[in-house]
Amino acid sequence: MDFLLATHNINKRNELARILSPLGIRVLIGSEIGIQLTDVEETGVTFEENALLKAESGCKESGLPCIADDSGLCVDYLNGAPGIYSARFSGVHGDDEKNIERLLKELSGVPREKRTARFVCAACCVFPNDKKIVVRGECEGFISESPRGNGGFGYDPVFEPEKTQNGMTIAQMSSDEKDLISHRGKALTLLAQELKKIL
Ligand code: IMP
Repeated sequence: MDFLLATHNINKRNELARILSPLGIRVLIGSEIGIQLTDVEETGVTFEENALLKAESGCKESGLPCIADDSGLCVDYLNGAPGIYSARFSGVHGDDEKNIERLLKELSGVPREKRTARFVCAACCVFPNDKKIVVRGECEGFISESPRGNGGFGYDPVFEPEKTQNGMTIAQMSSDEKDLISHRGKALTLLAQELKKIL
């Protein structure tokens, strides 16, 4: 059975394909079915709302069940910021280095026990008959004092997951290690479990 994934990111497609292929699901992106998906404006105020906006639009445009996700970093000391604005925290969309710079500046002098944070990922699937599945995965951790490691993307160099006790940042882990504990890995696994129940 074919599902559309509302993303241009081939890495996300491959990750989802690995998780869903045992269910007989083939995950495709717009270019693979010859359509250019509209870039949906993320006007929601939650990760779930933004994921649903993307999946609803993709489902309507393709006629296929459509999966989408929305993710970001929530820092307790900053009352949950940058949250849904994670990609453009510094004002420039997708500038990872500048986003990290602003984050570390805002946490300057804040002791470790108050540097708690979590990565959040909402994943959803919208079907042509309007049925919807929405799930959420989280990864708890701490914001480090300075960036470490070259792997991953986004805030990975300053995020120390709680589960790794040696204080490694995600950017210092292999992608397999990250997949096991990541918010996205957890959300996609939950989504696969929900899909299994109805397919
Ligand atoms: P998106 O939902 O994948 O577009 O992610 C939004 C933003 O959240 C990204 O631009 C990153 O800044 C941040 N983010 C989401 N997931 C991760 C992650 O796994 N590692 C680091 N940063 C992330």
